[in-house]
Amino acid sequence: MDRRKFLTRTGQSLALLNVAGLASAAPTLSKEYKNVAPEDIIYRTLGRTGLQVPVVSMGVMNANIPGLIVRSYDKGIRLFDTAWYYQNGMNEKMLGETLDKHKLRDDVKIVTKVYLKETERDLYQPEIKAVFIERFEESLRRLKTDYVDVLIYHAASTIEEQNNPFIIEALTELKAAGKYKHCAVSLHGDDAALIDDVREKGFYDIIMVMFNIAYADDLRLQTAMQKAAEAGHGIIAMKTQCGGGGYMWWEKHEDSRQSIGTLNHTAMLKWVLQHDYIATAIPGYTTYEQLDENFSVADNLAFTTQERDFLDKAHVQLAQSFCVQCSQCVNSCPHRNDIPTLMRTYMYAYQYDNMQQALATEKAMPRKYGLANCKDCGQCSAQCKRSLNLSQRIEALKELNFQHA
Ligand code: SF4
Ligand code: SF4
Repeated sequence: MDRRKFLTRTGQSLALLNVAGLASAAPTLSKEYKNVAPEDIIYRTLGRTGLQVPVVSMGVMNANIPGLIVRSYDKGIRLFDTAWYYQNGMNEKMLGETLDKHKLRDDVKIVTKVYLKETERDLYQPEIKAVFIERFEESLRRLKTDYVDVLIYHAASTIEEQNNPFIIEALTELKAAGKYKHCAVSLHGDDAALIDDVREKGFYDIIMVMFNIAYADDLRLQTAMQKAAEAGHGIIAMKTQCGGGGYMWWEKHEDSRQSIGTLNHTAMLKWVLQHDYIATAIPGYTTYEQLDENFSVADNLAFTTQERDFLDKAHVQLAQSFCVQCSQCVNSCPHRNDIPTLMRTYMYAYQYDNMQQALATEKAMPRKYGLANCKDCGQCSAQCKRSLNLSQRIEALKELNFQHA
């Protein structure tokens, strides 16, 4: 796909988010994937919260079809994950209005997140507490509910951030007021170290962490998750399908696409859930067919021969194409740019096909660490420890020519 077609397509995506975000669509079930009988669904306990949840939950993030929420519930999904930050609040609104309309609120678990922009992260000042509380109150209004089941401090990247005393105070007050039941942190940093810290401090009930086949050799991360689960923390896995949120590996570059081929989503999801310290996964599907495919694993996590073959062939390429947010590239950039966040921007733009999220992610970066910095580099000289072609991805981001008001 050339750039013009891509920009047209992403323009259409944005228009859909704005105009048809709340529109219904008739469910059209794929015949290919079996239905899972409710009594066969595998449930796991979300750590010390005691919540019992099916192993497959819904990452609502990119979805904008209310009927998909209803059909997910019909199939057996009981936990829905959203955030203030997704679709600029429209995602929470769509979820809240749908659950309210169909009187499903009391039958499901709602997870939402409060995000602090990168520019607010060094605000270790009392006023961040009020910002956090106000954002969450807005989320409750959009979700049309008095409380959520899980409130997440979104995308902590350092131990200091996840222990910000003003965030902890905000979470403590909100819990005392009955505005949420269980607190959590989602991670985008040195996740093993962040998880160990959560376990040692004991404040957060739940940890949301990126986990997929690209982490197959990361025993440090796997050990940290296992120990946290043993200590009573619920573990929710995100990005389980290696950033194939748009349900295809839509790399900007033809050679990368060919090397990976078509993604086998059930194989990747089963691989994650075969780690039984993961309580549930939140694949971010956007169509009825994808729902059926994801939920088809909820009663049987054993690989088929085809799934095993896919993982044998593709796991190395996937590991070399997925940014694990380890930050080990940062020192190789003469400007010490925030490359992990730039790579998340790339993933949202080119792999999730979610330009609004890409724009918001880039916009939230301090200017000295954003794309503006890269414009002065003729060619990117930064090096990824896992062989991602950073130069190609930075050039692809520059082409999008983000304009912020
Ligand atoms: S680009 Fe590579 S080195 Fe940098 S954070 Fe991502 S995986 Fe790590
Ligand atoms: S283009 Fe330059 S500033 Fe941007 S990440 Fe690469 S080396 Fe760093």
